[in-house]
Amino acid sequence: MSTERVRVALRARPLLSRDIGEDIIRCDNKSSSVELSNHGECFYYDHVFGPETKQSVVFNTCVSPILESWIEGYNGCILAYGQTGSGKTYTMIGDEGGKGTEKSGIIPAVAEKLFIIIQKEQQQFAILMGQDCESQFQVRVSFVEVYKDDVYELLGQKEKSTLALREQSGKVFVSGAVERIVNSTRDVKKAIQDGTNKRVTGQTSVHEYSSRSHACFTIVLEHRWCNNKHDANNKNMNKKVSSLTFVDLAGSEQSSANQGINGVRFSEGVSINMGLLALGNVIESLSQNKSNASHVPYRDSTLTRLLQNSLGGNSKTLMITCVSPGAGDKEQTLSTLKYASNTR
Ligand code: ADP
Ligand code: MG
Repeated sequence: MSTERVRVALRARPLLSRDIGEDIIRCDNKSSSVELSNHGECFYYDHVFGPETKQSVVFNTCVSPILESWIEGYNGCILAYGQTGSGKTYTMIGDEGGKGTEKSGIIPAVAEKLFIIIQKEQQQFAILMGQDCESQFQVRVSFVEVYKDDVYELLGQKEKSTLALREQSGKVFVSGAVERIVNSTRDVKKAIQDGTNKRVTGQTSVHEYSSRSHACFTIVLEHRWCNNKHDANNKNMNKKVSSLTFVDLAGSEQSSANQGINGVRFSEGVSINMGLLALGNVIESLSQNKSNASHVPYRDSTLTRLLQNSLGGNSKTLMITCVSPGAGDKEQTLSTLKYASNTR
């Protein structure tokens, strides 16, 4: 399992009318590599998705394995990295205005599959285990945002408020984060919408704000089962809890000024940069150390501390790096390509 702990994918969106210049990205699916026109270097990833790639292909190729291990009881983390406008939100949530399932991104697709799987498992369980047994699934979601060094609650009833990160027996958790029970894909979408609305309160635009903060949406799956439901005190209730966290990261353009495009990575920067740079270091360390987690530098930023439980241990991590194909974005794209290929 160790070799599959971290996977890095690269997704180039199609050229849009807002882009400046021609399409400069050359994706080669066979070798999972990317080249830029008139730039000698070639970058390699675990998966490469060109502009024609459908949401369902991204899902089936690299999200499904994480979904499966999550349902077996392992934590998972799926992150979208890239400059503002490169397709992070499209990949994670989908195109809100769009019609049809093809427009729906990873989170709604995961929710849809999850509820189908739960239903099937319940039926299987009843057949295999008999009437005296009991099996219950509960699905909960939470939604927080990291802005500078603070964590904000996005699903609470009140005004957006800050939350503290606490540590207990080696596990980091957000103290007081609201967990909302969800029973359908619709409930999950509603939670995303509610949190997104709260995110932008008092801000000029979704775009401007989302480019400066990291949005972390978590789905917790809890399975309880027992062999004898007549056992009054439920002493024999088994329990398995695993979480899958989705992170729509702040725009990476923030960090490029410090990062430089010629390989000087992970230098100092302000808080957003720190988060992205620390994240790069953590992912790099996880993919190199494989089984030795003792040197993973989670403590270097609020973002990485928050994600510690989702990234470490037996978790599976997928980073989907998004790039804009226009010649006008060449510097940002190059910097993103380097960041992502360096984390492998
Ligand atoms: P980000 O979240 O990185 O700022 P968005 O997800 O908002 O970027 O994408 C920017 C624009 O590009 C949106 O209009 C979105 O619909 C479009 N877009 C992004 N990725 C794709 C894609 N793979 N196919 C078609 N349109 C896309
Ligand atoms: Mg976005």
